[in-house]
Amino acid sequence: MNSNQSLRLVERGMGMYIHIPFCKQKCIYCDFPAYQNLQDYYDTYLYALLQEMTLFKEAYPESGDILIDTVYFGGGTPTELSILQLEQIIDHIKSLYHLADDCYFTIESNPGEVTRDYLVGLRKLGFQRISFGVQTFNNEALQMLRRSHTGEEAIEAVKMAHDVGFPDINIDIIYGLPNQKGADIEETLRIISSVPINHVSTYGLQVEEGTYLYHLVNTELLSLPDEDSEEQMYETIIGGLEKLGFERYEISNFAKDGAYSAHNLKYWHDSDYLGFGAGAHSFYKGVRRENNRNVMPYARTVDNYELPIVQEEVISKDRAMEDYSFLALRTKWGLSEKRFYEKFGISLALKYSDVLATLINQGLIVYEAGVYKLTKEGIKRGNYVFTHFI
Ligand code: SF4
Repeated sequence: MNSNQSLRLVERGMGMYIHIPFCKQKCIYCDFPAYQNLQDYYDTYLYALLQEMTLFKEAYPESGDILIDTVYFGGGTPTELSILQLEQIIDHIKSLYHLADDCYFTIESNPGEVTRDYLVGLRKLGFQRISFGVQTFNNEALQMLRRSHTGEEAIEAVKMAHDVGFPDINIDIIYGLPNQKGADIEETLRIISSVPINHVSTYGLQVEEGTYLYHLVNTELLSLPDEDSEEQMYETIIGGLEKLGFERYEISNFAKDGAYSAHNLKYWHDSDYLGFGAGAHSFYKGVRRENNRNVMPYARTVDNYELPIVQEEVISKDRAMEDYSFLALRTKWGLSEKRFYEKFGISLALKYSDVLATLINQGLIVYEAGVYKLTKEGIKRGNYVFTHFI
């Protein structure tokens, strides 16, 4: 998918997200709705997922007329399901919703958990993009994080996906891991340069409350790199990816040859999307919804013919303008005066005159030809910039 195709999808239709909350094992840093050892419930969950789609369509019949042009299976680990189970989900989506003929399908997966035959099966189902949770190629670190794979398996998985014809392959990389050194990042970059991928998502490790990692760090059983070392790792990976020909098109996302994540572009442009599954979020007609993240309560609710929504928020115009502004600033396309006016009927300069002037004075954003963009320093201090809009 090239740059123009990706951007066209932002404007053309709506995205759909399907959450599969199962994993082979739980990583110590993970606070997503993702659970291990629930194999006995996969069929129950599948039934509930299909039922939720049906219930949503009954509650919002007009949603069936809107063109869906990206479908993203995330998790958890969606490839925990069999090809047959994934096919059932896709068939059900097609029976209820208006999928574009060229709808762009993405699936997340973990290395070491997919065979060549399975990948061939995914291609036959129409998946064009696969996103592997690699995180690091260092086996010691992978073991410490309780990842289910080795660095060698990650390389192997990417090569297999390429061999069976996936045009778009992403890997996720985390930096700032406990005991991580700069040399490890250099090694990551060396491996990235040798594998057939066209997208990298990279994040600093977050220590989320309630995770096992949080406990280990708080009891000083594990220590994180200090701020300077983490900053150095950040600089190394960002600079290294750019040298390898990956374009930074969003704060944490890098693509080669315009292979942007078509589905995520919709989030960053604050477009509508439907989300199904335990813990899934949606943004539809000005309302954000969040589903119950616990598998059995989710399934029981749906079984009682109720939508499993636990939170619903009508987004005010002010809130929509805030969200749009900082999401747009995250991307290389920036915050455009023209687009803002077209979307909200208000001048950006009027709405945020003080904020924009302050951020320009602080050297965190620049203004060029009707568009505000983050500077290099602004990217680094993204959260500080974004709070100004809220
Ligand atoms: S594989 Fe991903 S979703 Fe599953 S536990 Fe690990 S980090 Fe969480």
